[in-house]
Parts: sequence; structure tokens; C-alpha cells
Amino acid sequence: MKFSKSSRINVALYHLGIYSYRDILFYLPKKYDDFSPSDEEKLLDKSRVVLVGRILKGLATYHYHKASLVQFSFLTQKMNVFYIKAWNRPYLSTSLNSEDYFTLVGNFDKSKNVVNLISINKGIQAKEGLVKPVYSLPKSLDNFEFVRLVNKAFKEIKKEDIKDLVPAYFKKKYHLIDKYDALFLAHFPKNKDDVKASYRHLKYEECLLFSLKMLLVKEANNAIIKENNQPVDQSKIKNFIEDLPYKLTKDQLISLKEIIHDMDLDKAMYRLLEGDVGSGKTLVSALSLFANYTRHKVGALMAPTEALAKQHYLTLTALFKNSDVRIGLLLGSTPLKERSLIRQALLDEKIDILVGTHALFSKDINYSSLGLVIIDEQHKFGVNQRHLLSMKGDNCDLLMLSATPIPRSLALTIYGDLDVSTLFTFPYLKKDVETIIVSSNNRLIDQYIFSSIACNGRIYIIAPRIENVDEVISVEKLYEKFKQKYPTKVSLLHGKLSEDDKNFALDDFRQGITPILVSTSVIEVGIDVKEADLMIVYEPTFFGLASLHQLRGRIGRNGQKAHFLMVYDGDDIDDLNKLNVLVNSNDGFKISEEDLRYRGPGEFNGLKQSGLVSFMFASILNDYKMFVISKEDAKFILKNRNEYDFKSILNKAKALTEEEDIYRA
Ligand code: ADP
Ligand code: MG
Repeated sequence: MKFSKSSRINVALYHLGIYSYRDILFYLPKKYDDFSPSDEEKLLDKSRVVLVGRILKGLATYHYHKASLVQFSFLTQKMNVFYIKAWNRPYLSTSLNSEDYFTLVGNFDKSKNVVNLISINKGIQAKEGLVKPVYSLPKSLDNFEFVRLVNKAFKEIKKEDIKDLVPAYFKKKYHLIDKYDALFLAHFPKNKDDVKASYRHLKYEECLLFSLKMLLVKEANNAIIKENNQPVDQSKIKNFIEDLPYKLTKDQLISLKEIIHDMDLDKAMYRLLEGDVGSGKTLVSALSLFANYTRHKVGALMAPTEALAKQHYLTLTALFKNSDVRIGLLLGSTPLKERSLIRQALLDEKIDILVGTHALFSKDINYSSLGLVIIDEQHKFGVNQRHLLSMKGDNCDLLMLSATPIPRSLALTIYGDLDVSTLFTFPYLKKDVETIIVSSNNRLIDQYIFSSIACNGRIYIIAPRIENVDEVISVEKLYEKFKQKYPTKVSLLHGKLSEDDKNFALDDFRQGITPILVSTSVIEVGIDVKEADLMIVYEPTFFGLASLHQLRGRIGRNGQKAHFLMVYDGDDIDDLNKLNVLVNSNDGFKISEEDLRYRGPGEFNGLKQSGLVSFMFASILNDYKMFVISKEDAKFILKNRNEYDFKSILNKAKALTEEEDIYRA
């Protein structure tokens, strides 16, 4: 859609996923800059400050090689003097005068006792509580241009076009404003209170929909009864475990017990197995599949990418090599001939476990007696995995694996009554991965690459995007760059390559023919290459913390010393704080908690964030109470589901449970 005469603006909006005026209304600010004047007596180092006052004499301009600097001193209304530095804004030297009052925003540098200017505007704008929306936009689109578009959007879209989902009953109960007004205030707040009123509506709607959705999923699942359910053979499992070359961790044992307990019930299992990267979820899955095999049922293990599916296939094949378990592999790229062989084998009951991608649930694939389905990296798939199985005779047990662990108390809140097993402990000694933030010209990058290659290590180089958009570094660009430096040693991997090319790239990497792999975050999910000891992530701020932690989990898998470099040239305090969470912690539970904290309202980088559930408005941590309340309200709605007032939210929630939002890396 054309929003503007400028194709630059249209293209930028397109890349943000904005295709209509309605989309603009729903593209909410990333944050709100506070224009309340700072407390000048208590300025924190490196903090954003707002000062109101006049320019004192001493406006001086310096010119350097490519830069210019305007310097002046500033007398505030509170009669304090600050020294201000403004880089690369030579026009300031003529546009500032000493008569007018100005409102100035800057970063305070305590050691030098200067304020580095961010913006300066004529007049006393700073009022208590005044806020200004800041949008997350590409460099090609300015904030003020976007605000202009939002204005236009509110003219195009009328109040009656935006219907409230929240039932009038609850709107009244909680004094919520209308949704249209909530959107308006989110974009044009006069003060902090407006933002609050706006987000109260948006958050509550989100929480209520989510709670309803979870209850509906759970309700549908509870209604599923397994017919003639045979118990699993505990003694066979015990023997199998005793023959393993290693011992299960305590949590692996507990989780397996919980899973087997569910399998023996007549009601179908619907369980989440969560655990940090490397906590050994695959082994628990394998043993669950074995348990399923002992009750003479077929099992299916689904992974989000072909690479991961193949890896699981190899792992299971090795694990079951001394048993009678027969394993098959089915991918989207599996040739037709092989595919029909697998189909036949399934019908003839000659396959006990089928590993694969989404292809496992294609229309032409039928299982004679599917007993257990396991979905790895569940967050990469849609909300209601059971929906996937509906055509396969869906009265089987379902286990979902998630590597974005969240604390149990939170899990209970957001998953409602979903059953959760958790792996807290790790199977081997803690890994030795050092995490460093480096600038793009830091010598460490080449030093570590060099020493990794010298020791037969493997190196991942990661960027968020395949192709260049704006100035964001892409994998294609990095591939060219590193290929020049290391001509025969680099492979390229991303989602747009053919399956064959992906396989070649990964195989060459695994074998060490090309020890450097330049890739998008497709490798985030589960790839296990033990020799990998270095990862260099470009544009790390494009990833959520949980994603970065996942990526980091790919290296040092043999317990060897490994390095995780995040390449960052900026100086944004929020960005640095976020990246430092990873520098300072290796605890997946803690990191995902921080991840939730850093994902501000509406924050969405145009890239899908990995995570269990991504809420646009509500924060699982800070809006805990709202989740609790909305859960009760959702129950109330279900109890009174024939009330006319509840119709539209119920329909919406139902539609969400059927959403098949398959993620393709
Ligand atoms: P994730 O939970 O990230 O999927 P994996 O299942 O890939 O983790 O396990 C990580 C590594 O730990 C694998 O190489 C696996 O073989 C190994 N592993 C899993 N369980 C054990 C155990 N009980 N003892 C020793 N090694 C284990
Ligand atoms: Mg895994």
C-alpha cells in the first residue's frame, strides 16, 4: 500500500510489516521519553538528563577531520551551570541564542562533568509527567515522519472501525477506556497517566485473550480419552537406562517419571518439558519414545528445521542401535520415492519412531497407532500443537519441549493449568564460555578465529538478516567479507537456500572442511557440533536475550574453552545493559526473566523474537497480577459462555487456538 509519495517511506513501512492504516495504529511506541526535568542534584553517570535553562556565552565551534563540535555552557532555571557538547551539529552555533529558554536532553558524563547533547528545543517543554513516544524504526524513517503517518491513520480509521474485544462487563468493572481511545493515547499521550490508561486496556485485553486461549486448549485436551490405553513396560525402560554409558541427571529421571505417569493415564498427556540449552531434553524425549514403544505404539518427533530433525535421527539411531526399535526420517525434502516407502512402512507397522519436520503431519502421512508426539522447540510452532495432529487421529499423548525456561511460578501463571516438567540440572560440568562485547574492528575477532582454526575448532558467525536492509549487517555481506579473508574455509547457511545447499553447508562445517559457518539464527535451534568453540554475533541487539543465550549454547559443548563475541559499535545504554546480562550470567532461567524485562511494550524489531509467548503489551513479570485476575475472568467467561457480551472475545480466543502459525527459519 502507498502511504506517501516518498517510496523511501513506503518501503520502510513495508519492512516493518505495516500494510494498512490499521497496522499503523497498532504499531505502538517502543518507549516513551520522559521530559520531566531531572533532579540536578542527583544526576547519575551515563543517565539521560533533561535540563531547562538558557545558553550562557561561550558558544564555540571546533572542526576536526570529519567531525565538528559545538560547545557551550548552560545555566539552568535552578541556577546550575552545565557544560554541553554537541557533536556534528554545526548549525547549532547559529541557531541558539542567549535570550530564549531551551529544553535540553543529553547524556550525563560524570567523569568529564559534561552533558553530551541529544536534542535541544526552544521553550520550556519540560512539564512534570510529560512524555514523548519513541518508535522503533529503521534509519531511513524518522520519528516525526512516523508521527505524521499516525496522525493520518487516525483520520482514516474511525472509532467504529476498532471494536472492543473486552466485554463491557469487565470494562465497567475495571474502569477501562475504549480500545480506540487506548490506541490514540498510546500514540499521543499528554502525560504519563495517559500512557497508563491506554496500556491498562491493551494489557488487559491481551491477558484475557491469552488466559481464555489456554483454558480452551486445556479444555479440549482434557476431553481426549485414549482408548484401550496399554501401560508402558517399566522394567524394559529400567533395563535400557541401566545399559546407558552414563547416568541420567536427577531432573531427567523426575521428568521421565512424570511423563510416564501421564502416559499411563486414560486422559491424553499435554505436557511441557522445559530446560536450558544442553540440559538434556533430547535424551528424555528418546526415553519417552522408548516408553511409548514398549506399549506397542508409534511415536513421532518433530523438529522445526531439517538440520535439527536429521541430527535427532542420528542421535536416536545411535542410542537405539542395540535394540529392536525401528526409526525413520521424513523431511519436506525427502524424495517422493523414499517418502512412499515410509508411508508404506508406517501402514505395515514397520516404523516405531518417525523423526522429521512438519512433513510428519502432511495429509498423505498416516499412522496406524500413533501413541506419542513430541515437538521440539515448541515455541517455533503455533500455539495449539494439538491442532497439527487433528487429522492423525488425535487421541495421543503430546509432549512439547522448550528451551526458553521460565521460572516455575511464572510458568504456572501464564500456562494456567498446563503440566510442566523442568530440567534444572545439567548432565555434565558447567561449560566454559567467555562472553565479550567487542567493536567491529576489535582485533580479538581475528585472533580468536585464527586460534580456533589452528585447534581444529569450529566458528559460527551470525547475523539477523539474510540480505541487507538499511545499514543492518546481513549474512550475505559477512559471507563476502570473511570469504575474502579465509577463502576456502567459509560456508553460508540461511533459510532461503535449498535444502541441498543447507545440507552441504552444514556437513562441510561438521567435518571441518569449512570450519567457519556464516549463518542466520537458524542454527539457534538445537544444532550440536561439539568442536564449535567460537561464535561471533553481529547486530546482537536484533535478537532477544533468550535467543542470544540459545545461540551461545551452540559452542563449548565438549566443555572446552569457548568464546562468544557480540559485535556492537553503538553506545546506547539500554542496548549495553541488555547485552551485559549475557556477559554476567549463564543461567537460562535468569536470562529469560531479564529477557521479559527488556522486552518493553510493543517492542518488535521486525524479526520474530524467540520465546515461549511473546506478549506485546503485558509483561509477565510486572503485570503478574493482571494475569492472575484475567485467569479468573476467563473462567467466568467460560462458565457464562452463552452471554451475548462474551461472544466476540470467545470467538477471537477460539480462532487463536486454531492458529497454525508455523515458523520457518
Ligand atoms: P537440549 O536440552 O539443549 O536439547 P541435548 O539433549 O542436546 O540438550 O543434550 C546436550 C548434550 O548432553 C548432548 O550432547 C547429550 O548427548 C548430552 N547428555 C544428555 N543427557 C546426558 C546425561 N545424563 N549424561 C551425560 N550426557 C548427557
Ligand atoms: Mg534440543
